[in-house]
Amino acid sequence: MQRSILAAIVFAVALPVLAQAPARPQIQTTKVDGTDGVYIFRNGGHQSMFIVTPDGVIATDPVAYGRPTGGADYVAEIRKVTNQPIKYLIYSHHHYDHIAGGKAFKDAGATVLSHKRAAERLAVIKDPHTVLPDETMGDSKVIRMGGTILELSYHGLNHSDSTLVMRLPKERIIFVVDTIPVGAFPGRGFIDIYPLETEEFMKKVLAMEWDRMIPGHPGPGDRLGTKKDVQDQIELMQHASEAVKVAAREGKCWDAVERDMKLDRYKDWPGYAAGLPMVLRRYCGLWGRGT
Ligand SMILES: [Zn+2]
Repeated sequence: MQRSILAAIVFAVALPVLAQAPARPQIQTTKVDGTDGVYIFRNGGHQSMFIVTPDGVIATDPVAYGRPTGGADYVAEIRKVTNQPIKYLIYSHHHYDHIAGGKAFKDAGATVLSHKRAAERLAVIKDPHTVLPDETMGDSKVIRMGGTILELSYHGLNHSDSTLVMRLPKERIIFVVDTIPVGAFPGRGFIDIYPLETEEFMKKVLAMEWDRMIPGHPGPGDRLGTKKDVQDQIELMQHASEAVKVAAREGKCWDAVERDMKLDRYKDWPGYAAGLPMVLRRYCGLWGRGT
């Protein structure tokens, strides 16, 4: 009896230690399984894709907001893999948490490329840590380098008005930032989302040919996204949208919805508690104010 009590105490004391995940490095570079030269660079809770080819490197998002050495750290990680010149730095969209820190890439000789709307926004706000694009694009552009094909395409409003879908047709991989969270409830990214257009955007992404999606924030256990993740997010948005629409038409936006509404179906999803107020407020804006 006493022994089992002792064992229970030992277990209770040891459990929190056992439950702690091993310390995760701030910066990590991982080659994507089954590819010749597709890598994920992660800095804290942000990540981006870079592609190494025999004729040069295509990098995306410096992810260095609030990280003064983040851009240089990213270039240094690329240099551990290859000495090929970094020819492109492509911005996924105009949000600084993903694209601040490009100076190190400019210094390395890269051409900075974004959707034209990103360039327009960046020119107005003039963030001191974010390099303006050298080149812009409209609805589509294809980059061919050293046997790699990278398709860049714009599919209308979504999480931003400047988001590019980056697709590697041979590898059947896409890189989409912020619009389609992987295995998590949406959160602050909802602040300026275009909710109805985002559902359409997701349907377009779903119809494209790909197997794996690299997200701009790591998925659970660093897993990559699948088409099921996209389908799940479409359903989540439709569910939240419909719930708030009903309440909005009963005059419950903002206060009653923000105070009382729950979306219990998603209560066990990572990010639910923190993200719910953001999602409800945005849909109240849509259905309660028409914006
Ligand atoms: Zn964003």
